[in-house]
Amino acid sequence: MRGANGPRRSEVLDEQGESIPAPGGADSWTTADPEAGAGAAVTLLRALIREACVNDGDPASGQEIRNVRVLQRFLSGVPDGALEMQVFESAPGRASLIARVRGTDPEAPALGLLGHLDVVPVDPDGWSRDPFSGEIIDGEVWGRGAVDMLYLTAVFACVLREAALAPERPRGDLVLLAVADEEAGGEYGLHWLLREHPGALRVTEVLSESGGMRFGDHVAIGVAEKGSAGRRLIVRGVPGHASIPYGAQSAAVRLGEVMQRLALFEPAIQLGELWSRFVSARVSDPRLAERLRDPVRLDAALGELGGIAGYAHAISRVTLSPTVLRAGKTHNVIPGKGRIDLDIRTLPGTTDEEVDELLRQMLGELADRVEIRHLRGWAATSSPTDTPLYAAVERAVTAVSGAPVVPNMAAGGSDARLFRELGIPAYGFGLLGPSWSYERYREHIHGHDERIDTGSVGLALEALRRIVRDRIG
Ligand SMILES: [Zn+2]
Repeated sequence: MRGANGPRRSEVLDEQGESIPAPGGADSWTTADPEAGAGAAVTLLRALIREACVNDGDPASGQEIRNVRVLQRFLSGVPDGALEMQVFESAPGRASLIARVRGTDPEAPALGLLGHLDVVPVDPDGWSRDPFSGEIIDGEVWGRGAVDMLYLTAVFACVLREAALAPERPRGDLVLLAVADEEAGGEYGLHWLLREHPGALRVTEVLSESGGMRFGDHVAIGVAEKGSAGRRLIVRGVPGHASIPYGAQSAAVRLGEVMQRLALFEPAIQLGELWSRFVSARVSDPRLAERLRDPVRLDAALGELGGIAGYAHAISRVTLSPTVLRAGKTHNVIPGKGRIDLDIRTLPGTTDEEVDELLRQMLGELADRVEIRHLRGWAATSSPTDTPLYAAVERAVTAVSGAPVVPNMAAGGSDARLFRELGIPAYGFGLLGPSWSYERYREHIHGHDERIDTGSVGLALEALRRIVRDRIG
């Protein structure tokens, strides 16, 4: 179905279902009552959680059309012509919503707010509450997606609605890109949209997820994401009957030799500007900071970073993780072939050739007997920090939180990279309360008992209002 007959587009889908109260006090987005607006964002967040758009990688899962309908209801009621809404469906139920408040000046920036509508699966046994109830307990909204990233999608939609309701149009466009399938790679979401409907996505700068947590007393803003260079190592032996193993050249045994080398191999440390900023923000002990800035002493100091050691390890080098091993099909046949799949995460600037060379280094004398094949991958991306949008984010976040910001690199990937690849600056935005350390953030996203405090929703909302005013108001 995908792409076969073009998208099915509908201006307004189903109007049934639970109604969502309109935000109060938002007659003008420049004078909106922050409390009323945060209330609307929290209500919208709970509605998005309850639709349970769980994406398990199966093309039939996700069914983001349900959250598209929630957003359509939320955005209905703005005056005619204030908002251009389009729904695109890449496959049955895999819907994305693009809603644009058109600015008065075509030369002004067009700010994209990129939020995904899907969430990852849950293991209900690990949860102490219903993961899709959206209930509020002690000031926290519970549910899968509360942090990743429905709270931001809700905040994005609220600020867009405020812009549509304002008496005056903004100078530049404000565009909500509420997309399907981020959690499984975006093939039914942003990838498809960029391929099939690039015109609908016209923006000149983008805010998305993976920011707003605290590194020490700094608020992290995402400016880069590591790349992915999947590789398959093919190991060959000689097949034979397992009852006579004498002199056998088993691919299974060779695979074990490669695994041992992998376990001992550590790619070279590569420290850039973002590393230095991370250490300055997060590490208050000057002696520890000095060791962390020294590639020779860094690894011995990693353990002292506690819960953030894994992140620090990941952003200071290319990483290699063996994920799939296969050799043999039948228990009485010595296998003639085996394979190891590697998840390799690269740094900005790492080339495919460098990855292959790294693998040959790791394999040493085994290199001639192991074939390296390329799996799916993408390059690391980064956006500069000297753009007007980054400056606006910095001003807004600091004004609302009282904390300085620190640019950071995500160890994983998100849809934002697709815009960076097009040369459009894209940042990992968000603003969480002071108790949201990086460790707490990591624990919640994709983990059990995911939840967010309503205070953080209000902080992100207020910061985004300021950014929008600053850039296109
Ligand atoms: Zn996400």
